[in-house]
Amino acid sequence: MHRRSFVAGLGATGLGGLWLPVASRAEPPLAADPFALGVASGRPMPDSIVLWTRLIAAGEPGERLGTSIPVDWAIAEDEAMRRVVGHGQATAEARWAHSVHVEVGGLRPNRPYWYRFTVRGKASPVARTRTAPDASERLSALRFVFASCQQYEQGYYSAFRHMAAEDAAFALHLGDYIYEKSWGRDLVRRHEGGRTTTLDEYRDRYALYKSDRDLQAAHAAFPWIVTWDDHEVDDDYTDDVSPQEPDRARFLAQRAAAYQAFWEHMPLPLSFRPQGPSLRLYDRYRFGDLAAFQVLDGRQYRSHHACRAALPRNKVMRACDERLDPARTMLGAAQEAWLADGLARGSTNWNVIAQQTLMAQVDRGDGEHRAFWHDGWDGYAPARQRLLDAVAASPVRDTLVMSGDVHSFWAADLKRDFDAANAPIVATEFVGGSITSQGAAPARVKALLARNPDLRYGLGGRHGYAQVALTPKAATVSFRVVDTVKEPTSGIATIQRFTVEAGRPGVSAP
Ligand code: FE
Ligand code: CA
Repeated sequence: MHRRSFVAGLGATGLGGLWLPVASRAEPPLAADPFALGVASGRPMPDSIVLWTRLIAAGEPGERLGTSIPVDWAIAEDEAMRRVVGHGQATAEARWAHSVHVEVGGLRPNRPYWYRFTVRGKASPVARTRTAPDASERLSALRFVFASCQQYEQGYYSAFRHMAAEDAAFALHLGDYIYEKSWGRDLVRRHEGGRTTTLDEYRDRYALYKSDRDLQAAHAAFPWIVTWDDHEVDDDYTDDVSPQEPDRARFLAQRAAAYQAFWEHMPLPLSFRPQGPSLRLYDRYRFGDLAAFQVLDGRQYRSHHACRAALPRNKVMRACDERLDPARTMLGAAQEAWLADGLARGSTNWNVIAQQTLMAQVDRGDGEHRAFWHDGWDGYAPARQRLLDAVAASPVRDTLVMSGDVHSFWAADLKRDFDAANAPIVATEFVGGSITSQGAAPARVKALLARNPDLRYGLGGRHGYAQVALTPKAATVSFRVVDTVKEPTSGIATIQRFTVEAGRPGVSAP
């Protein structure tokens, strides 16, 4: 029977509106390469790691696989996958976009592993990962990279291709992994669709970004530790308020969709799965006795923008007393207490605070008029003060802050009082540029440097990431910059290198 007349026939017999038998639905088969979005690993612990992939369907982009699909995984001590130390079967469920999140336990600390997935006889590429050292290990060196802000339309991901070749234990991603909307000049490729607000739209946006082979190579080279910023959801959102969506309930539904799609596409464990519009993302990592990482979420719990009703579109404002209200929070009370507790109990050589946006104070005014950007830490000055007080009180002497969001490279001294020239420096901040996203022009960076002495180095108009080498004696941070993001391939070079000696916080003159 022709399908149409079959449905019509149901209607005629009073069964219209009932579901059709599953077998009669046109379910697209798996794509010829079901792993075309790549594989990834993340959340490196001394004995465990998370393995990730997402299956995709054949046919039109946006075609959905209709059922749960068993996926086999294996992890081995060698790249040829001969010494397999773990294997099993996971289920890729339609409800979670056929993503797979395997938490592999029972691993040995501080060593590389290789893994792959198999579905219906098709194997993924073999990818490399690495466990963290044991918490008690005396670690003499740790190398990692950090990056943020990869607007797909504005450039190619050569930076990720080069990142994949770095000698690094892991990568830190500090947010803006996707952009919910099109923007920028001189675009080299285009998003499909407009601004994302629904679950399917966010899923398709992640699928587009993850189809990039250079990004896939960086995921396949080492585990990633991830947090987010605003563009994973909506530009400049704060907790339950978005400048683009006046209705809070509708925005929370959008946030729930965005958080779900984020979880579906990141190497995060099942325990991080969102519940409605909530996803607990902030987390700690420890790499032997050398470094503890506090990975923060500065979006989900923050106070709304100060002086919101009068705030101009660029969020820069001259006078606003509300900005200095101590009741305002960037992290929310629970995360702030959790961070202070972690810093107070520190016992490593280094603290690293991995978070979204530039922490140093930046006066963006002119002449005698000071002005501050309310979406950054300057809009949450007392909360920053409390964070830096906790840093200063930590038994760990040396703290580094790693930041993203501002689409330019920076090195800055962090002080408990930014307005006192002689206030002690309590931490050293580095912003690792952007992978592709456009930011301040070099002349603007120069003007900000001239006006703000705690900003010790700035670079605009270039793209890349940062590489960090830690030892008990020093931290070396290298800014890695591609020649161009406008060509599919590009060279890379270290444009600046900084050394922070243990016990001497602050940026040494570059
Ligand atoms: Fe960004
Ligand atoms: Ca941002």
